[in-house]
Amino acid sequence: MKKIKLKDVNGVLPIGLKLGGIAHSNFSFKPLTYSVEREMARVLEDSDTNTSAIGVDALLSVCLDEFAGVKNTSEDHRKTISNSLKQSYYADVMTMYLSLRLQEIGPEFYMNGYCPICNKPSSLVGDVGETGIDVPDDEKDLYREYKLIEPLPFRGNATMTSLQIGPNIWGTSYQGIDRFSDVKRRAILGAIRNVNGVEKSLIENDILAMRKKDMNALVNLIGEVNFGPEMVIGLKCGSCKKYETVEAFDWRYTFFFDLSSRS
Ligand SMILES: [Zn+2]
Repeated sequence: MKKIKLKDVNGVLPIGLKLGGIAHSNFSFKPLTYSVEREMARVLEDSDTNTSAIGVDALLSVCLDEFAGVKNTSEDHRKTISNSLKQSYYADVMTMYLSLRLQEIGPEFYMNGYCPICNKPSSLVGDVGETGIDVPDDEKDLYREYKLIEPLPFRGNATMTSLQIGPNIWGTSYQGIDRFSDVKRRAILGAIRNVNGVEKSLIENDILAMRKKDMNALVNLIGEVNFGPEMVIGLKCGSCKKYETVEAFDWRYTFFFDLSSRS
């Protein structure tokens, strides 16, 4: 695995996707204009539920100029792109999302916080372009084998003893969810590629008997193969410039694309 910075991504997906046997690894954006924002509001209103993940989908499907071999010039193209996004890796979708933020809003990121050096509430400033992006060296890097500490009964007479884990796919693991408890559960389901060496996708009932220690180990392993952006940002006190901290950032559209938290 190698680590690059968001500002050096330059329109190349960290993992890339294969559709119909063709590999796609590039992306580009239209400028984020008033008319694009209006279009995005329409797409959001048409969505069934209004979750953070759908906000990311809507934004990208409207703003991507070219993605997975499709030039985005009509509503049909937008829907095709939205479908390709569902099949893309979490790493790639979030990298595009952050890249759009960097390109169209700029690198400055503001968060209200407390500075122990100034000893008062302060506006903390970060640089989105410095966000670390984990990039796999090759395809082998994407998968891990896991032996369950406590094997569990699996669909009748079988016993689930080992699992192969791969990077989360956006549509399976993230779309339509908004709560952390869902994220963990869906991340596990979305990461399992095979069971006992045989290719399978699991449903929730298959893992009801899974022990907590196995689930925790799996979540750690998924962290290793998910790649893409570190969802944390380094911040400095805007007044004294001496206090430095690292915070998880809120990636919801309203927060991430809005500079209103500037104080
Ligand atoms: Zn300070």
